[in-house]
Amino acid sequence: MNRPYNFSAGPAAIPAEVLEQAAAEMLDWHGSGMGVMEMSHRGKEFISIYEQAEADLRELLAVPANFKILFMQGGGLAENAIVPLNLSRAATVDFVVTGGWSQKSQKEALKYASESRIAASGHESGFTTLPAPSTWQLSKGASYVHLCSNETIHGVEFHELPDLQSLGSDAPLVIDFSSHVASRGVDWSRVGVAFGGAQKNLGPAGLTLVVVREDLLGHALPICPSAFDYKIVAENQSMYNTPPTWGIYMAGLTFQWLKRQREGGLTGIAAIEQRNIAKAELLYNAIDNSQFYVNKVAVNCRSRMNIPFFLRDESRNEAFLTGARERGLLQLKGHKSVGGMRASLYNAMPLEGVQALVTYMREFEQKHA
Ligand SMILES: *Cc1c(COP(=O)(O)O)cnc(C)c1O
Repeated sequence: MNRPYNFSAGPAAIPAEVLEQAAAEMLDWHGSGMGVMEMSHRGKEFISIYEQAEADLRELLAVPANFKILFMQGGGLAENAIVPLNLSRAATVDFVVTGGWSQKSQKEALKYASESRIAASGHESGFTTLPAPSTWQLSKGASYVHLCSNETIHGVEFHELPDLQSLGSDAPLVIDFSSHVASRGVDWSRVGVAFGGAQKNLGPAGLTLVVVREDLLGHALPICPSAFDYKIVAENQSMYNTPPTWGIYMAGLTFQWLKRQREGGLTGIAAIEQRNIAKAELLYNAIDNSQFYVNKVAVNCRSRMNIPFFLRDESRNEAFLTGARERGLLQLKGHKSVGGMRASLYNAMPLEGVQALVTYMREFEQKHA
């Protein structure tokens, strides 16, 4: 089947191989007589799916043994509350605000922390730059420092995580990696908690991945719901309550797909990262080499995953989107708070999809410039 290229920011495209396998197993998973959605989460069939998914993710992302992998629900937004419920100790928390998502996180933490401080902000630049770590005003004794390592709406990405200790802070770093999880490696030596909704790069909506360092378990506020207490979730292998079984299964198929990826002698995450670099370069070069399109994000923090761009003549936006849809290039409209266009190039987007987009952009420019 020849499917269109889907540039949605999320829920987003899933590799066709994964969808095909899920379709083939829909009515009868491995001769069990049951589809995955119909299984007990405590039965041996689902336990094997869960254990494989966890092991594959641990291997892919090289998650160290002193981190727990939790499969939760509620998405990235629920984690904006769940993180302070677990880690804030009702004290001060620091935020690095670099776009729409970290802004939301900072506001939600106000409900649980005594103070939710903005240690640094990219607001003045319209969130087109990342404030340099050396300028962050980190507070003494903060319970944690939060940042969004890839801002899905504004298209800025941390290409290196900060070393908080070298900035004079002992606080653990919390990262919202919803929209670039599994697109590149993670430097776990700099992370306390990483969380992300699955619907950008791992599978369907409804599953939230949390990776938490063991020493951060067991500090939840008394008001923290039991089902959201990281320690309780970890002690019950993410089965304190019924986990999102379908989401875990689909993410597991995606992890196996990732493990099969090959690129220039590399495998797994290293291979997909190489491909993601090539895809992003292709689109950024096309934008930068044109007088017709523009991307406003500083070159050193441009996201590989979410690329917002504008037509200099915005009266042509509708024509651009209509022509794109006719070519099978879907969901390119920008986020309402930013406008213009946005191309999300998650792992499931092949290089050919970006080539097709760039070709279309050139032709549209030639026709209308
Ligand atoms: C999509 C997204 C979220 C929100 O996820 P929900 O599943 O809608 O709660 C949070 N943070 C980032 C960086 C995102 O891209």
